[in-house]
Amino acid sequence: MIAQADIPASGLSPGTGLIACHECDLLLRDPFPRGHAASPRGRAPRAAEICCPRCGARIYRVTGTSLNRALALALTACIVFVIANAFPIATLDAQGHRNDSTLLGAVHLLWQQDMMPIALLVCVTTVIVPALELLVFSSVLLLLRLGHPLPTLRRLPPVLRVVLHARPWSMIEVFMLGVLVSLVKLAHLASLTAGIALWAYAVLMVLLAALSATVDMRKLWAGLPVRHRSATLKVPSPQPAGSELTAAAFGCVSCHVCGLLSPRPVHGHRADCPRCAAPLHGRIPGSLSGAWALLLSASILFIPANLLPIMETGSMFGAQRDTILSGVAFLWHSGSWPLALLVFVASIVVPLFKLLALALLLLSVGRAWPRHRHVRTRLYRVLELVGRWSMLDIYVVTLLSALVQIQSLAVITVGPGAVAFGAVVVLTMLATLRFDPRLIWDAEASKDVLNHD
Ligand SMILES: [Zn+2]
Ligand SMILES: [Zn+2]
Repeated sequence: MIAQADIPASGLSPGTGLIACHECDLLLRDPFPRGHAASPRGRAPRAAEICCPRCGARIYRVTGTSLNRALALALTACIVFVIANAFPIATLDAQGHRNDSTLLGAVHLLWQQDMMPIALLVCVTTVIVPALELLVFSSVLLLLRLGHPLPTLRRLPPVLRVVLHARPWSMIEVFMLGVLVSLVKLAHLASLTAGIALWAYAVLMVLLAALSATVDMRKLWAGLPVRHRSATLKVPSPQPAGSELTAAAFGCVSCHVCGLLSPRPVHGHRADCPRCAAPLHGRIPGSLSGAWALLLSASILFIPANLLPIMETGSMFGAQRDTILSGVAFLWHSGSWPLALLVFVASIVVPLFKLLALALLLLSVGRAWPRHRHVRTRLYRVLELVGRWSMLDIYVVTLLSALVQIQSLAVITVGPGAVAFGAVVVLTMLATLRFDPRLIWDAEASKDVLNHD
């Protein structure tokens, strides 16, 4: 935290050692402005975590990992990704009939069954976004390893912006859990053999987590040039004793993408970040109204998502239509109560919790509640963390419909409830991303100033 007395009267240029917390806007002195934590006596850089002293948010993490290790992880993940997509996930064997499916095969089948929204959702979250992330990180690390310094990679800032925006939609770990649930469901009905892709996805999940902990985004941004530094940040009017200085009070804005502090754009004028070219805003524009609209749409769709069948099974014994709840009941009665509980939590408890918690956050900010700011910020973090896990049931029905395609025995197709449910998951995730947590901390007096953006 910095005090008024720490700021020189001449003001500060963008990128000269100050950062703002992305969750509460508190202004802090950056302990590692050049992006790495050099250890004393010239040893290898050490890891460090910088947290906000006011709201507790993790502002960034400095990793002490070498470039070679990050590159090795990225290249291995690329190879494992190709294997995971090229081979079948599992083979189903029932009364002499065999059927297997790859992930892309399952997506293709959904497309043929006129389930384009689900096919697109599965393809984007399990193939396109992870592939983009892997491709970008391995190319950047390879270029750095080959001796191209960061400032020469001119196209890197817009590419990193796309990757950072796409990142919340990479869901390999949720997909992996979906594979396990669908295999347990099928194990009761037929003989199953795990395919090479199943193991590849498990390894890929670990590699992606290791890669995201290894690649130091902060260091990447710190190495990229800032285009212009013409404007000087103005020193704000004196603050009351004991008050905490925020970036907004300091007359500057923190870039949503790369975190660089820049002078606040003049009202009505558009300004871009001098480092990553993302549009600069004090707060996410239309944060409250946009999040409310997305939340209300999600709440309406939550009704058909639970009433319409998510999966339809046709067999020699007749047709059966399963809603989310009847799927949970099936798992419970077949003895898989831990899985029944897991699907119940992911598909019913989490979406309901998200709808209610988001409504509470939006109401509290709209009415400028001054209390429980720490609790509400923590609630927002939980929402960000759990939202993706609701995709579980979408992956389960995708895999069941891909594997159970034995015409003489049983055929599973995805039902219209899945489209409504997928829309609920996407809309609540978009509403969470649209909500600006700094609004929780904005003082009532400055609200009218901040809402100009
Ligand atoms: Zn904070
Ligand atoms: Zn930026």
